[in-house]
Amino acid sequence: MPSSPYVSRINQIDAAQLDDEIYKVLRNQVKRITEYQPVERIDRWQPEIDALLKFLVWNFSLRGGKSTFGQQLLNLHYGNINRTKSVLYLILIVVPAYTRDKLLDGAGNRRLSSLFDRIANVAKLLEFINLLIFLHRGTQPRLVEYLLGIPSRSTTTHKPRNIGYSYMTRELLWHGLMELFTTGLPMINFHYLKHTIKNLIPRRNRGNVRRSFPTMNSTTKCAYCNDTPIMPMHAGCEHIFCYYCLNAHFVATNEFECMVCGTQLRVQDAKTYEARSAMSYSKDEAAKMIESAGHDS
Ligand SMILES: [Zn+2]
Ligand SMILES: [Zn+2]
Repeated sequence: MPSSPYVSRINQIDAAQLDDEIYKVLRNQVKRITEYQPVERIDRWQPEIDALLKFLVWNFSLRGGKSTFGQQLLNLHYGNINRTKSVLYLILIVVPAYTRDKLLDGAGNRRLSSLFDRIANVAKLLEFINLLIFLHRGTQPRLVEYLLGIPSRSTTTHKPRNIGYSYMTRELLWHGLMELFTTGLPMINFHYLKHTIKNLIPRRNRGNVRRSFPTMNSTTKCAYCNDTPIMPMHAGCEHIFCYYCLNAHFVATNEFECMVCGTQLRVQDAKTYEARSAMSYSKDEAAKMIESAGHDS
């Protein structure tokens, strides 16, 4: 198959990313295998284990062939790579990391480790500059590739990468739906809907409105949340509500039905509950209370 000189930037970055991921997967596997070993023993050998993993990955990909595993997945390979360059590649990816890990491990030689830190910073800066050059020029996204002069080439003919549109459509639909629900649902006035639907169903004791005055004692519970009322309020029936329970309903609708007795409660009747002694009731009120007590029994 003729190899094309053009490779898109995204494919090259993805190949490097895939190589990293493959290495991380292997590293995690090793960690899982050595989970039950003493920690200090594994920590002591961690730089060697990492170097060995990198060597193994290199051994099965670049040593015999022309591409890393990440590149193979995206139909890429390195142009003008030879045996020397491939060995240099291995040294460049293994030795600096190994030396750094060993120095961090020992922590004996302060001057040497600070010197190495400086070198690492310079390397990071060079890596960044290389990335900028890559974005401009479109080849060799990694510093190692730039140093060795090994640009990526496509193994297939020049054609854009296949993208699964069915997957993308599904993702888009899913995200659209999620957004609709998270922004749309809080806007729906559920209290109002419930109230309207309840009004459609005829009830027997509708219209039989009995306005009475609530009395509160230590056992009184909120008619809505069935807890001790916080900042007790009432709105026309003998039941007491929390300030929040009552006002949350009145924010949604001006009128709603008491859950316990079914009386229509109106926003203009809402009052803070004040404990009153029997003496403070007017004669009319007292007569009404006695009358209603007689009804109940
Ligand atoms: Zn309540
Ligand atoms: Zn009630």
